[in-house]
Amino acid sequence: MISIYNLPLFRPPSEANSIIVQATYGCSHNRCTFCGMYRTKRFRVREVDEVRRDLEILRNFHSSKKLFIADGNALCIETEKLIQVMKLAKSIFPEVERISIYATPMDILEKDDDELKALRNEGLELIYLGLESGDDEILEEIRKGCSSDEMIEACRKAMSSGIEMSITAITGLGGREKSYEHAKNTARVLNEIKPKYTAFLSLIPVEGTPVYLKIKRGIFKPLSQIEHLRELRWIVEDLNYRTVFRANHASNYLPLKAELPDDRDAILKLIDYAISHPEILRPEYLRAL
Ligand code: SF4
Repeated sequence: MISIYNLPLFRPPSEANSIIVQATYGCSHNRCTFCGMYRTKRFRVREVDEVRRDLEILRNFHSSKKLFIADGNALCIETEKLIQVMKLAKSIFPEVERISIYATPMDILEKDDDELKALRNEGLELIYLGLESGDDEILEEIRKGCSSDEMIEACRKAMSSGIEMSITAITGLGGREKSYEHAKNTARVLNEIKPKYTAFLSLIPVEGTPVYLKIKRGIFKPLSQIEHLRELRWIVEDLNYRTVFRANHASNYLPLKAELPDDRDAILKLIDYAISHPEILRPEYLRAL
């Protein structure tokens, strides 16, 4: 990792080889109860000249057709300024063909259709968004800042502007008490959105977060390995749209990669096998975010 970055720096697994530039530091929301990503950072939108300096340094040793704009929810940047950053990045890296970004649903809803289309025309092809859960009670408990209806509305709005969505949800987020509701409502919302990419992480309670403290106090009962898999099974059996499905993040007990719906039966069989042979699962100490 080179030192121009303000750490910690996060990016989606599929952006491993992308040029990454920080147009913001941190996350403007920074309240989700399970998330420790940006707790050490004060949010700020960076000046275009600061971004230019980083891009010029990166140009010396990096080349890629893909550019990822960090940090947490850089889509919250005022559209005009974000377009300035994108134009600048493309002028320094003319080989870039695809730009992607993290966003919250509210960042999308706060932009009008013309703004989203303008961003798409500048090369913004993909938005990574954390659905986390499709269950409204859980969304409120984790302080996501929006409802499942707003999630659906935001994603449809971006997609109707020609921007693809990559959506992540988290197994175990409702604990034992709400495991089934979490699964079924998450599948319901994903079916409404039909994102091109669908990804699942498994909850890892991060020290110092409200979820971690609730577990310590016995208020929140985390899922066992098998319960995570059962929950994922409840979701996969309901998903009814065409998508690239990934649950192969370091937090997942059973790495899964599939094209749905074609691979649904194979995935369900694999999950069933893992439930009856837990020795094949990633051990707890090897899980990571
Ligand atoms: S989950 Fe996303 S929106 Fe929530 S605090 Fe973390 S980075 Fe911000």
